[in-house]
Amino acid sequence: MTSYYDVIIIGAGMAGLSSAYALRKSVDSILICDQFQIGNTFGSSSGSTRMFRAMYSNPYYCQAAKYSNVLWESQEKHYGKKLRVSHGLLFYGEDWGEETIEGSICAAKQVMQRQSIPFEELTAKEISARWPLRTKPGWQGLFEPAAGAVLSGESLNFWKNEVIRCGHKIRLGTKVVSVSDGADVNVLLEDGTKASSKRCIIAAGPWSRYFLELLGYQVQLQIWPMLWAYYTIERDRMDTYPQWFCFQEKAKNDPDQGLYYGFPFMGDKKNGTDLIKIGIDWAPDKLKRSDYTPSANMTIPTELLQILDDFVFSYIEGVRSRSEAHLCPYTMSTDAGFVLDRLSKNIFIFSHGSGQAFKFAPVIGENLKRLVLDEAPLFDLSPWSVKRAALQV
Ligand SMILES: Cc1cc2nc3c(=O)[nH]c(=O)nc-3n(C[C@H](O)[C@H](O)[C@H](O)COP(=O)(O)OP(=O)(O)OC[C@H]3O[C@@H](n4cnc5c(N)ncnc54)[C@H](O)[C@@H]3O)c2cc1C
Repeated sequence: MTSYYDVIIIGAGMAGLSSAYALRKSVDSILICDQFQIGNTFGSSSGSTRMFRAMYSNPYYCQAAKYSNVLWESQEKHYGKKLRVSHGLLFYGEDWGEETIEGSICAAKQVMQRQSIPFEELTAKEISARWPLRTKPGWQGLFEPAAGAVLSGESLNFWKNEVIRCGHKIRLGTKVVSVSDGADVNVLLEDGTKASSKRCIIAAGPWSRYFLELLGYQVQLQIWPMLWAYYTIERDRMDTYPQWFCFQEKAKNDPDQGLYYGFPFMGDKKNGTDLIKIGIDWAPDKLKRSDYTPSANMTIPTELLQILDDFVFSYIEGVRSRSEAHLCPYTMSTDAGFVLDRLSKNIFIFSHGSGQAFKFAPVIGENLKRLVLDEAPLFDLSPWSVKRAALQV
């Protein structure tokens, strides 16, 4: 027997749940399917925090962040609690005239000036005087006070609870094995369950290639296994760390590619000891894959851990030891931009989150909702088109 829904959503990560939240009152029935549990560590949405900022080199993302912040605010009003914490964000380090996947200090400054985003400029000495961060002479900094951290785990829970409260269905622990397009969209689950719908959203994160190819799309997509770790800190330093990105130019053949990030103390503890989260924001070429198999990608290479430790113990003061380390996948495009598009009359997709999509969850959800309902999107979505030149193979 086939069950019928208005909308089927494949994937219950950030994109699947935020679009279900956006659609929850506009359609009668939604089915969300995920092969694992919500917040699973194989996808890209696991963990408790993600950064948000408007400090972007690309004016399109700066503008999208402004839209997103307005929608986050209205979701917070509905939730009755904050889903974000504003403690600012520091971009610091070198500027060598090239863009990284997170942008660059110089270009972000220009965009923030043009888009009237408040920020402070800092010298290396001022950075080290204000925070426990070691700098090199000539380094510079930008601080965006309104930026901060999204409570990502809590956001997933909020969307899930709201979607269930509105009477929609979430099926976890069963993989979608096929999707076929026609007058209706027919979906087959691994356990033999069949479901059909008028419309379908594919929000499969690092597994997107499978669905794109099934529907006839060959596009550039790489999976980068990203290393991050918790470090124990001295108790009296607890409230002194900022949220930061550090940019350093490295030679092409240097195994260290120079881009790192860190969070302030966000209440994480192990055995009573305070922890801060610090990560590498690049992956060695030899670990990048075109297909995603979690078990194959999840072994942490010791040389990568060593590079992270070297950075942390050289540049961050008051860190005692590494507590635990994790790998989590980025689904990367060649231009570090997303795909949010219509694949056929009835099938829509969000993919290629490129390590920066969580902060845009409300605009991703709202735009998917509008596409599904045949309404005009919030803003021009052509930079996120699946057919854009940068994604063609
Ligand atoms: C280490 C790390 C740090 C990051 N930091 C930031 C940050 O600071 N700020 C920011 O804005 N963003 C950040 N990001 C990016 C952001 O977290 C991701 O872009 C976002 O979570 C992607 O969500 P998603 O829904 O597209 O994919 P996912 O969260 O991976 O969800 C996809 C879901 O689809 C399910 N699925 C796939 N295939 C099937 C199938 N066949 N059947 C059923 N279910 C299926 C999966 O099980 C998974 O749960 C970071 C990402 C990582 C990994």
